[in-house]
Amino acid sequence: MRLKGKICLITGAGSGIGKSTALLFAKEGAVVVVNDINENDGDQTVDEITQLGTEALFIKADVTDSCSVKEMIQHVIDKYSRIDVLFNNAGISGVGQLHEIEPEDWDRVINVNIKGVYLPSKYALPHMMKRKRGSIINMSSCIAEIGLARRASYATTKGAVLSLTKSMQVDYAPYNIRVNALLPGTIFTPFVENYLKTSYDNPDEAIEQIKTRQLSGELGRPEDVANAALFLASDESKFMMGSPLYVDGGVVFGKNA
Ligand code: NAD
Repeated sequence: MRLKGKICLITGAGSGIGKSTALLFAKEGAVVVVNDINENDGDQTVDEITQLGTEALFIKADVTDSCSVKEMIQHVIDKYSRIDVLFNNAGISGVGQLHEIEPEDWDRVINVNIKGVYLPSKYALPHMMKRKRGSIINMSSCIAEIGLARRASYATTKGAVLSLTKSMQVDYAPYNIRVNALLPGTIFTPFVENYLKTSYDNPDEAIEQIKTRQLSGELGRPEDVANAALFLASDESKFMMGSPLYVDGGVVFGKNA
C-alpha cells in the first residue's frame, strides 16, 4: 500500500504503460483517475481496477486540448479536492528522417508529446502549489539520450520533455513538488507493435534487431516501467528531484560490442 489514499491522475491510461501503471497504483492503494482519448480503452482500465475492489474514475480528454484538460483537472478537484500524483504518460510515435516528415505529422507528434505534458501540468500545478505537495512524472524516453534512426520528430519531443522536467523541478521545488522523468527503452506495447508494422517491412526481424540494442536481450514489459513510476509517485523517492530514471535494459549506458 505504497500509495494509500493518494489521488493519482494518469494520462493515456487506456493502453500499454499507462494502463499497467493505473492497475499497479490501484493495487498500491491509490484512487486512480484514468485519462485517455479512447473511451473504450479508458473504460476497460477502470473496469479492471474496479474488479480489484478499488475506486477509479475515467475522464475522456485530449491532452492537446486546453479546454478539455482544464475541465478534466477541475473535475478531479471537484470530486477529490486534490491531485497528489500526475503522470504525464500519453504519447504517440513519429517515424521518419526529418526531410520525410510532413508538417502536419510533425505538428501532431509535437502537440501530443509536448503540449500533452504542458497542459495537464499547467492546470494541476496551482492545486499542488496550494497544498505544497505533489509528484509529477513526465514520460520521456531513452531516445532523448541517444541518436536513433528515423525518429526525428519523436526524439525531439522526448528531449524536450526531459528539459522541461528539469526546468519545472527548479520552479516548483519551493512548493515541495517533485518533477521527475521516466526514460524507457523499447517496451512491448500496442504503440511499439504499431510502429513496427508501419515502419518495417518485416516486423519480426525488426523486433530481433531491437532486442540486440538492449543488454537484457529482451524488450521491456509495461510493468517494468509501471514499477519505476510507482517509485517516483511514492514518498520513497522523496530525494529524487528533476531526475531522469532509465528503464531501458541498458540501452543508454551499455554497449554490446
Ligand atoms: P500506447 O499506445 O500503448 O498507449 C498510449 C495511450 O495514450 C493510448 O491509450 C492512447 O489512446 C493515449 N493517447 C494518445 N494520444 C492521446 C491524447 N491526445 N490524449 C489523451 N490520450 C492520448 O503507448 P505506450 O507504449 O504505453 O506509451 C506510453 C508513453 O510511453 C508514451 O508517451 C510513449 O512515447 C512512451 N514511451 C514508450 C516506449 C515504448 O517502447 N513503448 C518507450 C519509451 C517511451
